[in-house]
Amino acid sequence: MSEELSRLIALQELDSELAGLGRDTEGIRQAQADREKAVANREAQAGSCRAKAVDLEQSRETIKAAGEEAAERIKERQVKMMQVQTSREHQALLKEIEDAKRQIKDTEEQLLQVMEDAEAELKKAEELEKLSKGERKLLAEEATKATAAVRQIEARRTEVLASRNQLALALPEAQRKRYEKLLIKRKGLAVVRVSGGVCQGCFMTVPPQLFNQARKGGEICACPACQRIIFYIADENEPVQTVRPRPEEDLYEEADDEESEDDLLNDE
Ligand SMILES: [Zn+2]
Repeated sequence: MSEELSRLIALQELDSELAGLGRDTEGIRQAQADREKAVANREAQAGSCRAKAVDLEQSRETIKAAGEEAAERIKERQVKMMQVQTSREHQALLKEIEDAKRQIKDTEEQLLQVMEDAEAELKKAEELEKLSKGERKLLAEEATKATAAVRQIEARRTEVLASRNQLALALPEAQRKRYEKLLIKRKGLAVVRVSGGVCQGCFMTVPPQLFNQARKGGEICACPACQRIIFYIADENEPVQTVRPRPEEDLYEEADDEESEDDLLNDE
């Protein structure tokens, strides 16, 4: 395999790792934000329960006033009763008194209901507050862990980024530009393996002639369908690679499965 192709493959590996690290950080931040939102929601819920309880308390005053007003009316009608002449007037006053009594009974029931409701709202608020207090504490602990994790990822990212930039600069400029353009256009995947004659970027079959060329690993080949740079490394499903890597990377000596007999020796 050519030096340039090896560099491109290594560069892709680093860029893929960078993308993965970016996703990890984003995932951690998103999870924290989601938790924060959930706690904030619960706290808001508790707040609205408290507000409802206050409203209910205030409505008690209005109900009470209506009851007192009805009681006044009864007293006033009772005084009038002693002055009326006709039974018709008498009947009318009696009816007004009855109505006022009924109103007093209603206000008493309303007061009880309102008190019960206010108490229920307060209880709900207290439960929610207790719950969110626990969650807040947990969230703070998790935030510390998340910050540490993100810091670790960032440190690794800085490292990878430095290696990646160094590697990119070692490439001929045109090649580097081509790679970086592809990386953007092809969603972070510019260099892909060809496996079983199929481009692992777009999963189209690579024409046999191009495949053979890629197998030799000398020239930089591109998939005609997706334009990604393709390379070939033997795997257990395919006969062993015929082009040897540089001696220090000669891992393929280890290939020991029966399928990979060296019957395809057609080195360049
Ligand atoms: Zn392709």
